[in-house]
Amino acid sequence: MATEQASGKDGLTKARRDIVALGIAAAAIILFVGTGSAVLPKIVEQWSSGTSGGPNMLLTNALLLNIALIIFGWRRYRELRGEIETRRVAENRARELAEIDALTGCYNRRSITSETDRAIARAHSNGKAIVFIMIDLDNFKQINDLNGHQAGDEVLVRAAERMSTLLPDEAILARLGGDEFAIVLSYDANSPDHVEQFVARLIDSMSTPMTIRNQQVQVTMSIGVASGMSGRHGELSEVDAQALLHQADIAMYHAKRQGKNRYFWFEKTMESELRLRNQLESGIRHGIERGEFVPYYEQQVDISTGELKGFEMLARWNSPHLGMVNPEVFIPVAEEVGVIGDLSEGLIKQAFHDALEWDPALTLSVNISPVQLRDPWFAQKILKLMLECKFPPHRLDIEITESCLHDNIGVVRTMITSLKNQGVNISLDDFGTGYSSLTQLRTLPFDRIKIDRSFVAELTGVDASSRIVEAIVSLGTGLDLPITAEGIEDDKILETLKALGQMKGQGYHYGRPESAGAVRERLAAAGLLLEGKPKAPAARDQSAPGKNRKSA
Ligand code: C2E
Ligand code: CA
Ligand code: CA
Repeated sequence: MATEQASGKDGLTKARRDIVALGIAAAAIILFVGTGSAVLPKIVEQWSSGTSGGPNMLLTNALLLNIALIIFGWRRYRELRGEIETRRVAENRARELAEIDALTGCYNRRSITSETDRAIARAHSNGKAIVFIMIDLDNFKQINDLNGHQAGDEVLVRAAERMSTLLPDEAILARLGGDEFAIVLSYDANSPDHVEQFVARLIDSMSTPMTIRNQQVQVTMSIGVASGMSGRHGELSEVDAQALLHQADIAMYHAKRQGKNRYFWFEKTMESELRLRNQLESGIRHGIERGEFVPYYEQQVDISTGELKGFEMLARWNSPHLGMVNPEVFIPVAEEVGVIGDLSEGLIKQAFHDALEWDPALTLSVNISPVQLRDPWFAQKILKLMLECKFPPHRLDIEITESCLHDNIGVVRTMITSLKNQGVNISLDDFGTGYSSLTQLRTLPFDRIKIDRSFVAELTGVDASSRIVEAIVSLGTGLDLPITAEGIEDDKILETLKALGQMKGQGYHYGRPESAGAVRERLAAAGLLLEGKPKAPAARDQSAPGKNRKSA
């Protein structure tokens, strides 16, 4: 910045000198014409006649001075041209640095707005519309974390290359920062399908994995498309680049939330959806600070004897604005905004305190998100919590879902092993809904598998049977892994399961998840509460205890 200003000043003095030099040269030429026409004929005449007494000495000197000035002017002109050329190259370079992304060579965030506005003007004069396509690579952070930043950079360069080969004439490709790209192109507003075909080709272009430093990397993208209309058809409103960028961004986030690796046209309703989502995000952040997240507990029972074996902790958000919120609403948001670790640890700590009041034979199961398992310190954090709360490891059961296994099996294995070495039990949750292979089941040291409630629900019909439940039960027997069936809603399901063999069960048949206070009442009535222990703070018991309860 500073050097730019200095060179600007320098340029100004040079330019002033150039004007003076130009004036001198012009005057010299005029004088040359004047004096030359008077003096030169006389010199020629003297040479040809051989006589002495040539032209006036003063005029001769003036002529010589004229010639010197013309030479000076010519040299200055040459210098000037050289300077202009150097300055032009420097200016081009500066513009490039300001407008072009150094890594990928695409336009950057600063230049995309002006380029888009120019494209809009061009398209209008040709009777065409403009579409702004916002592209975000999915799970790029993970690629970076697992393979390093240099590999991440290579992925960005390759992705840009793949996209640029598909660009039609006059289309603009920009990298807006991080793993975010944008493409701007003109199209016939009556044929939005052309845009869709282009976007489909973009998504398809990423389907072949990239080989980066001998590693196969699979990249997908979430895409938002905006043309100034709501949806793919409709009234084309007057929009500028900023508005299009904003709309495409909203549509892109929508694509992310709908499961990534897909595209959406911007629609007006997405704006209010986004507002809600932002409210949810800040509500969750504040909720964690204010301790609004509370553990609820679901009974886990031996299905043949009906004996209570322990509880699964299920998170609830007691929001002052939204009421009691279920985890399916806030867990994915907490995962996405990176607060799931804090949220979960806070809950586990509360659960340890609660469970320490229960009969020590009762176990405590907690659910762990795949995002938490990516934290290399996860096992240490859990062990530290147990130590702090003096919670015996053998009473803790950590439930991880199958989706944890495809993220990074090596890290997960280390984590499971170090927790198991401390005596913690590990269950594979929602079994059957993911893609864990038999090899993973055999080589990862799980203590239990939980049959997902969607399969258990199939046992309700008149001649209820579920091949899947039967298969999982026999798999468990074969691998010597005990089983828990979730989602036992009625007697019918319970009887069918009992016929399949020994297992634990849980579900509405035994009772809905309930607050710490309700659990304490239940246990007190059953003589399963340790006496003489301090009670958990009353502020945490917000729910009416004992709703929908059935005894085990
Ligand atoms: P999950 O681990 O499969 O937990 C069981 C879910 O099934 C609970 O839903 C429970 O209320 C519900 N449920 C129990 N019995 C029945 C039944 O008989 N029929 C039916 N239809 N449903 C039953 P909830 O509490 O809404 O939790 C949903 C999911 O949220 C849990 O599924 C778990 O994956 C996740 N979750 C809950 N708490 C936490 C947490 O602290 N951390 C993480 N990462 N995930 C959590
Ligand atoms: Ca679970
Ligand atoms: Ca489950």
